[in-house]
Amino acid sequence: MASFDVIVIGAGPGGYVCAIRCAQLGLKVACVEGRETLGGTCLNIGCIPSKALLNATHHLHEAEHNFAKMGLKGKAPTVDWAQMLAYKQDVVDGNTKGIEFLFKKNKVTWLKGWGSIVEPGKVKVGDEVHEAKSIVIATGSEPASLPGVEVDEQTVVTSTGALSLGKIPKSLVVIGAGVIGLEMGSVYARLGAKVTVVEYLDAITPGMDGEVVKAFQKMLVKQGLEFIMGAAVQKVDVAKGKATVTYKLRKDDSEATLEADTVLVATGRKPYTAGLGLEALGVEMLPRGMVRIDDHFQTSVKGIYALGDAVPGPMLAHKAEDEGMAVAEILAGKHGHVNYGVIPGVIYTSPEVASVGQTEEQLKEAGRAYKVGKFPFMGNARAKAVFMGEGFVKILADKDTDRVLGCHIIGPAAGDLIHEICVAMEFGASAQDVALTCHAHPTFSEAVREAALACGDGAIHA
Ligand code: FAD
Repeated sequence: MASFDVIVIGAGPGGYVCAIRCAQLGLKVACVEGRETLGGTCLNIGCIPSKALLNATHHLHEAEHNFAKMGLKGKAPTVDWAQMLAYKQDVVDGNTKGIEFLFKKNKVTWLKGWGSIVEPGKVKVGDEVHEAKSIVIATGSEPASLPGVEVDEQTVVTSTGALSLGKIPKSLVVIGAGVIGLEMGSVYARLGAKVTVVEYLDAITPGMDGEVVKAFQKMLVKQGLEFIMGAAVQKVDVAKGKATVTYKLRKDDSEATLEADTVLVATGRKPYTAGLGLEALGVEMLPRGMVRIDDHFQTSVKGIYALGDAVPGPMLAHKAEDEGMAVAEILAGKHGHVNYGVIPGVIYTSPEVASVGQTEEQLKEAGRAYKVGKFPFMGNARAKAVFMGEGFVKILADKDTDRVLGCHIIGPAAGDLIHEICVAMEFGASAQDVALTCHAHPTFSEAVREAALACGDGAIHA
């Protein structure tokens, strides 16, 4: 039996960041991970492999559609799928080994195996029980199931199977128009699959700014994705390696079917907390296996903390990381804090979509007086030069104080541009503060400045 100040269960972005920060703050820490590699869902079967495939297929798209326009002539590349998957795996391996290196560097002990909490202060891994003053649950999430749909990870897959398909499907049905479904749908559309997205609601990417959502769907349609909206999937039948998806349109209850080589079930994720022994410990739970925590990330049982996808809030790697750091600070006797009002959300399609803070719909509902500053990438020289003139930056600011309340971007490098506004919001900046900050020319970020100018006396290039 070994004894630690902290044992973190799960080495995803929440858990490994928490463990490293605990060690940096002088605590003796171990991290339990049952998977063969560190990094959790994000590094192994989530953020990182999906971005590798998005990157490869983005370049394919550029070669097919834009190279000739720039005088780069010759045959468009052909796809070696096995090599593309090998590239993806290399990227994953580089990252997961990187975490292993960081664990060694920071003297974090990796307890290999699946852990359970036998009593407060005691974690069992395999046959061994280890002691800790504090325990952190960072066990993440798993794909949510859909009634009538059996996943075999061959023909009917979750995002995990979609990242490693045996071959590129000719047709793909994506159930669920959320971030994961649209990212993976984009990958396969660029690889030549006929992609149909079936969504229960009437709009894609629920919760995002309505104007961005409309523009986004239009762009995806232009890229060849088809959408069946307001449709409730009833079942998926598989015969001879082909799938038939039966859905019912909500508006008139009419039923229809779709055939596909592959079906991706992307209807969300749920916390993965089974097997930890939480019920026996009396840890208070929320629906769907989610752990209830207080303002200091502590569960209803003293000394047991939880974070990341296992607790309420957006299921995002950077939210988990921030919570990991905050919990470490708290355990080290400092003041850990996460500002949930400033957590960016990014969709890594092309163009990218990014947002932070309030949407226009939320401001309206709250009855808050606001103003909108918008700037199209068509007015941004750099964006036009790289054929990315579609999309816009939209900044929402308080009508009276000019304080930035939110920002929504669809366009090139949106996922990076959004951070300027994150920093502005953290500092309580006004739109004018952003507008008066010199931005290098020619950069995409000038579009952010122009949107900020549009909150005041007007943009220059619009
Ligand atoms: P996880 O990353 O899920 O890690 C939990 C770890 O705990 C796992 O490794 C698991 O094996 C381990 N574990 C669980 N139970 C036990 C146990 N009892 N004992 C030992 N180990 C255990 N988010 C973004 O921010 N950006 C993106 O671009 C993005 N893309 C995504 C793409 C896909 C396809 C998917 C599926 C997700 C994506 N996400 C993205 C979401 C992101 O992966 C999660 O929000 C993030 O991984 C959550 O981190 P976590 O530390 O809470 O849990």
